[in-house]
Amino acid sequence: MTSIDTAGAVGEAPAAAPAGKIMLVGIGPGSVEHMTQRARAAIAEADVVVGYVTYIKLVADLLKGKEVVRKGMTEELDRAVHALEAARAGKKVALISSGDAGVYGMAGPTYEVLFQAGWTPDDPVQLEIIPGASALNACAALVGAPLTHDFCAISLSDLLTPWPVIARRLDAVAYADFVVALYNPKSGRRTRQIVEAQRLFLRHRRPDTPVAVVKSAYRRRQHIEFTTLDKMAECDIGMLSTVLIGNSATFISHGLMVTPRGYANKYDVEQGFETREGEKAGRSLSTGLLGWLETLQAQQAQGHTVADLARLHRLPVEYIAATLAEPVEEAPAGESVAESEG
Ligand code: SAH
Repeated sequence: MTSIDTAGAVGEAPAAAPAGKIMLVGIGPGSVEHMTQRARAAIAEADVVVGYVTYIKLVADLLKGKEVVRKGMTEELDRAVHALEAARAGKKVALISSGDAGVYGMAGPTYEVLFQAGWTPDDPVQLEIIPGASALNACAALVGAPLTHDFCAISLSDLLTPWPVIARRLDAVAYADFVVALYNPKSGRRTRQIVEAQRLFLRHRRPDTPVAVVKSAYRRRQHIEFTTLDKMAECDIGMLSTVLIGNSATFISHGLMVTPRGYANKYDVEQGFETREGEKAGRSLSTGLLGWLETLQAQQAQGHTVADLARLHRLPVEYIAATLAEPVEEAPAGESVAESEG
C-alpha cells in the first residue's frame, strides 16, 4: 500500500493520478431497509469507510477488504481532514452519517475543511453528498403524519450554539405555530435545555398540545411515547430521541399524531369533499393572499386604522401599510390551476 506522502507526490504526473473522492453518506435512521441504494453502492465503492461504530456495524456486510476508521463523537473536523488526505492520495472515502449528512451532520464541517485547504469544485478530488432520510422523516412516519404542514427543526445542543440563539428560535417558532422537531433534546450532561424549551413553548401553545417522543427510530430499542406539552419534560428523553411538538391544529386519534393539511378550510370533509362556499378548486383560499388583501382594503374603508389591522391580523404595522399601498391584482386568467400536492 502506498502511504499518503508518496501518493501525494504523484500529483507531478497528473495524467496517471487516480482521482480520489469523498462521499458523505446519509444512511437513514439506522436500519438497512431504510438506507438508499445509492448509499449502499457508495459504501461498496469506497476504499476507506469512516464513521461511528454503531453505523459501521449496520453495513458490516459491505466492509470486506476495506480500511475502516471507527471514530468517536467529537472528532468531526479530524474526520474531514483525514478524508481529504486520503482522497488526495487517490482513495475513495465514505464518511457515514446517520439520517442525512446535511442535517446536523458532517456536510457543513467537511466543506469548511475543504475550503480551508484550498479545495474548489473543480478540484480533482470530488465530493458527493448522498441524501438519507433524516430523523424527522423517520420519527414522523412512525407516529402518524405530524409534519404535513409547515414545520422546522431545532437542535437543543448548546455545544456549538449559544443558548440565547437557540431560545430565540424556539420562541419565534412557537409563536409562529410551526410543528417542531427537536434534535439533540437531552443528554447525560444537557438535561435543562428541554425544560427551557417547554417553558418557552408554553408561552404560546396550549398545555395539551400533542407531543411525541421517539427514541431510536428503526433501531433495536425503538420506543415511542405520546404526551402533551405540559408533561413533555418528564418523559424518558435521551441522546437518541427526537421530540415532535404539534402545532395548534395537530391532534391525536387512534394512537396517531396528525397535523391537518388544511383541506377542511376549503372542502367539506364530511360532505364528500365538496368545495366550500366561496372557495374554488385549484385556486387560493378566499383567505389566501388576494382574498385577504381585499378584506384588508374593506376593513380600512370601514375606518380601521393600520395599527388596528396590524393587531387584528397579528402582523407588523409596516407590512400592513406597505401592502395597503399596493392595489390588489388578479392573476391573469388561464394560468395553470394544478398545484402539486406531492
Ligand atoms: N444527521 C442526523 C442527525 C444527527 S444529530 C439526521 O439527519 O437524522 C443527532 C440527533 O438526531 C439525535 O440526538 C436525535 O435527536 C436525532 N436522531 C438521530 N437518529 C435518530 C433515530 N434513529 N431515532 C430518533 N432520533 C434520532
